Amino acid sequence: MRPVYLDNNATTRADPAVVAAMLPFFSDQFGNASSSHAFGSEVAGALRAARKSLQALLGAAFDHEIVFTSGGTESDNAAILSALETQSERDEIVTAAVEHPAILSLVEYLRDRRGIKVHLIGVDAAGCLDLDAYKRAIGPRTAIASVMWANNETGTLFPIAELAQLAHECGALFHTDAVQAVGKLPIDLKAISVDMLSLSGHKLHGPKGIGALYVRKGTPFAPLVRGGPQERRRRGGTENVTGIVGLGKAAELAAVHLADEQTRVRALRDHLEQGIIETIGHCAVLGDLDHRLPNTSNIAFQHLEGEPIVMRLNQAGIAASLGSACASGSIEPSHVLRAMNVPPDLLRGAVRFSLSRDNTIDDVERVLQVLPEIVGRLRETSPSWLQHRSSQSAETLRPTELTQ
Ligand code: PLP
Repeated sequence: MRPVYLDNNATTRADPAVVAAMLPFFSDQFGNASSSHAFGSEVAGALRAARKSLQALLGAAFDHEIVFTSGGTESDNAAILSALETQSERDEIVTAAVEHPAILSLVEYLRDRRGIKVHLIGVDAAGCLDLDAYKRAIGPRTAIASVMWANNETGTLFPIAELAQLAHECGALFHTDAVQAVGKLPIDLKAISVDMLSLSGHKLHGPKGIGALYVRKGTPFAPLVRGGPQERRRRGGTENVTGIVGLGKAAELAAVHLADEQTRVRALRDHLEQGIIETIGHCAVLGDLDHRLPNTSNIAFQHLEGEPIVMRLNQAGIAASLGSACASGSIEPSHVLRAMNVPPDLLRGAVRFSLSRDNTIDDVERVLQVLPEIVGRLRETSPSWLQHRSSQSAETLRPTELTQ
């Protein structure tokens, strides 16, 4: 039976057209873009085309606002460190408590080792940013405010236009980690004035190990990787040509498939969620249900651990994940769900299903076929569930959706 892959926020399958576009650049078109002969100019042309595809996907005003990097993590690091280096009079960072470790571990390092003041802004039960705390934290010492466009665990979206404007009112730069948003949501950087934006190839059916940092024209910038004059001196090193060509193709295809993400993928996600709520019950959908990525569903099963659910799904040929892929392997509940104050009976039972354009209704039906039995069996042996059940009247045992 075909395996069912529902872990697309961890990574996506490279589109076959992406792989086909990359292949010639491993063989016949092997030149170095900086060379002045035909081998080089051919490759330089391919890099220009990829830059233009990303420019179009983001609605950027200029193609040179795109700087190719090794991925989302490097882009996030480059943005934050550049903001500190180019504004020596500003030594504070404002960011969200639910950011990806690509931001959080960097700002913790900067706080502990470099004495940078870091304001970690909290979220409410739906994962939405505490706007008042954000406004209070931003000030004349803020070098950069960095808030993700969409959360990787819950899919919750953040009000980027408003956050960017508030940062600018204090003269601070604004960066967004849009790794989970690009390719899933329309983005128009002519309408939203972020200074820098991070994206990653492998989250949008492109290759791994390639990403980009959008740097708005006129934004002061200091490179993270120093070396040759590549990327207009903003990122040294011979370009990852195959990766860049693949990312360019992925961006082109993402623009074509954007409507599908908004309609068909969203409908599949909603069908999965409704099916789980109706057939299993005693579960809660985590995140801001009205402002969410169309592909993501984070469902917490009351009085259960997420890990055995994910393991049994895996045995049934279904790939889902525990909160964030980066946090799995650790027994601690994720920092995102803790920041949301998810109640203790749900905190450890969260499973993330993240869909993509590769999924079909058959995939969703397979989950709905096997998951009720998995959860039912696990609940039969869960002491906290049995204790909970014995304290409830028969009526309350019908499947119900818990509200947060
Ligand atoms: N930011 C977010 C929100 C992510 O989800 C991820 C990957 O999971 C990253 C950054 C890191 O991106 P990359 O794997 O390209 O370094």
